[in-house]
Amino acid sequence: MILNTKLPNVGTTIFTVMSKLAQEHNAVNLSQGFPDFDTNPKLVACVNKALQNGHNQYAPMQGIQPLRELICERIENIYGASYHPDNEITITSGGTQAIFTAIAALINPGDEVIIFEPAYDCYSPTVKLFGGLVKPFELYAPNYEIDWQMVKKLFSANTKMIILNSPHNPTGSILSKNDIDELIKITKNTDIIILSDEVYEHIIYDGEKHHSVAQYPELRERSFVVASFGKLLHTTGWKIGYCLAPELLMKEFRKIHQFNVFSVNTPMQYGIYEYLNSENIYQELPIFFQQKRDYFRSLLSETKFKLLPCKGSYFQCVNYSEISEEPDIAMAKRLLTTFGVASIPLSAFYTKGKDDKILRFCFAKNDNTLLQAAEMLMKV
Ligand code: GLN
Repeated sequence: MILNTKLPNVGTTIFTVMSKLAQEHNAVNLSQGFPDFDTNPKLVACVNKALQNGHNQYAPMQGIQPLRELICERIENIYGASYHPDNEITITSGGTQAIFTAIAALINPGDEVIIFEPAYDCYSPTVKLFGGLVKPFELYAPNYEIDWQMVKKLFSANTKMIILNSPHNPTGSILSKNDIDELIKITKNTDIIILSDEVYEHIIYDGEKHHSVAQYPELRERSFVVASFGKLLHTTGWKIGYCLAPELLMKEFRKIHQFNVFSVNTPMQYGIYEYLNSENIYQELPIFFQQKRDYFRSLLSETKFKLLPCKGSYFQCVNYSEISEEPDIAMAKRLLTTFGVASIPLSAFYTKGKDDKILRFCFAKNDNTLLQAAEMLMKV
């Protein structure tokens, strides 16, 4: 059979490839981003209770009301931004589904979408799937800062969307207040939609504050904001998150969501609601992960790898050009098979596979795991 593939240049996502290899070679898996420690047992008890209390049928299409109300209340407290729980928030099957749905809802053939590379790997294929044209804007190591006047030069009559990601995966950079001001300036008097992937919003370091597009009215009115309970609660396997947007945009989002996912699993929603209602976890998260970042960085400083900055997210990038000239995929595979540590090569985050000899390690791991990995990396 000859298939007219919709995505001729797409293979299997790098996270699946590296995690599988890590398993096959029994390597320490610092590739795909997920914690190797468990979530709080109180949260598991809340979900158990929901299961036992019969919350086992379809949730409303947009998510259960108490959870939507609670999140909107938290968004108001944290960002001073107001979203109506009835029509400006939808519970999703994780961040990736929310991103996919927002793109599906808005992108028509020929629409141009600006992404910042390195970019998380789902953005570009999803845009292409709906006939959109990806306009990559390249950022440079080590700080991956954005020159907004140069971004503006990419604008055309067809520019439909800008995809933002802060704290940034894979580089750990964050958007500053100045970035937000520049973004407001260049999008003023345009109909450009912003899709803001903020799944690491609470994982930010050194006392820095996350700037959500939600908190700036000029951006809020044109933005989808994507958030993840997986990152907040150490439950990436639950695949649950949410999307915020003003009513006009959320209406379009739900047109897709209702026929793709319909609704997200009910007991998890009740469990998460009850847990978030009784625990304040937002304050401790940055402290918890900063300890891990600092520990991992201090261990890596004894290796030949050169550390890049990490201001947010749970990823640490390193440059290995003093060790080897191999392409980053080959280097990642050799590290995995010969030294027993799995990482993600940064070329996977560029549409043209740019190779700066940089690897990404996930440090959302037990200290023992980080130590074990670092001891192996010290031999390289
Ligand atoms: N977000 C995770 C990462 O960057 C991967 C999630 C996935 O595998 N789809 O590693």
